[in-house]
Amino acid sequence: MRHRSPIIEGAAIAAAASFAVALQAADLPNIRVLATGGTIAGAQASATGYGYKSGAYDVSLLLSAVPNLDKLAVITGEQVASIGSQDMSDKVWLKLAKRVNAVLADPGTGGVLITHGTDTLEETSYFLTLVTRSAKPVVMVGSMRPATAVSADGPGNIYNGVAVAADPGAKGKGTLVVLNDEIHYARNVVKTSTTSVQTFQSVNRGPAGVVHTGKIRWFEPMDRKIGSSTGFQVDALDELPRVDVIYAHANMSADLIEAAIRNGAQGLVVAGVGDGNMNAAALDALTRAAKDGVAVVRSTRLQSGVVLRNNEINDDEKGFVASGELNPAKSRVLLQLALTRTRDPLRIQQMFDEF
Ligand code: ASP
Repeated sequence: MRHRSPIIEGAAIAAAASFAVALQAADLPNIRVLATGGTIAGAQASATGYGYKSGAYDVSLLLSAVPNLDKLAVITGEQVASIGSQDMSDKVWLKLAKRVNAVLADPGTGGVLITHGTDTLEETSYFLTLVTRSAKPVVMVGSMRPATAVSADGPGNIYNGVAVAADPGAKGKGTLVVLNDEIHYARNVVKTSTTSVQTFQSVNRGPAGVVHTGKIRWFEPMDRKIGSSTGFQVDALDELPRVDVIYAHANMSADLIEAAIRNGAQGLVVAGVGDGNMNAAALDALTRAAKDGVAVVRSTRLQSGVVLRNNEINDDEKGFVASGELNPAKSRVLLQLALTRTRDPLRIQQMFDEF
């Protein structure tokens, strides 16, 4: 059952009012908020309590908790989903991507802000950066503490997220992730801590920039193909090819690899040991799989570093793809999209090198 405090109920009424005011503003950019749930919309039974339910509050209520948003942009919002991001699915990704493309196609819209759970934020953001057609800003925010917590981090992240979405410097950078005063490119950002508010890091590279109370500094340029230059088209898609992730470890058996293929996986990503490595049993099973037309990507279970092609494993000979900097979760996203266009491992490798 959903818990709502009287304070939050009161804020909901204020939210409706501030929405109406915001809609009157003239010369600020129009930012559309697409809400999907997550801890940022989460409610606890008490402010100091431990457990909470993701996605309990709707979009207007979230925005109402953030003072002065109407000084940054004219905000309108809609609820695309109300889920914890652990339940994010291909279906919701496609719905969200189509909504982002439709909203940004409106000449009156300046940018999009997406509220999302943090568990799979790194995957959703990478998916969107690969399929969003417009160069207008797309910014994602989440929070590590629920909306009702002491020192909730959601309102500050929303404020900074709107500031970034309203900033002309955010154009052409693909989907950006804003949390804890940092701006990250979707391709690089990963969640690194189960509970810390500084959980999001751009591993191997630095953040795209920083944002303090809405003041932005841009650092690293974006050097990968994004959006319309990837050639991915999701408008006509109702589903994505199944790709499973297999976690490598000492004494690994081939059973899970074989089960994944039997159950319809068209692609497999190995969260390999070291530089995308695996034992002989797994290597044999994956070699057979690649020969049978299953796409095989070698990623790593490690936090950082690059999975090199043809290093200890001969990818040319086996028909494998090396993930480069992409971790298993992001590799899975790119492989799903790649399989909508080709099964050729060399063409897929090119996508991993360029996107
Ligand atoms: N389980 C939550 C989610 O991903 C965690 C969070 O948002 O921080 O929706």
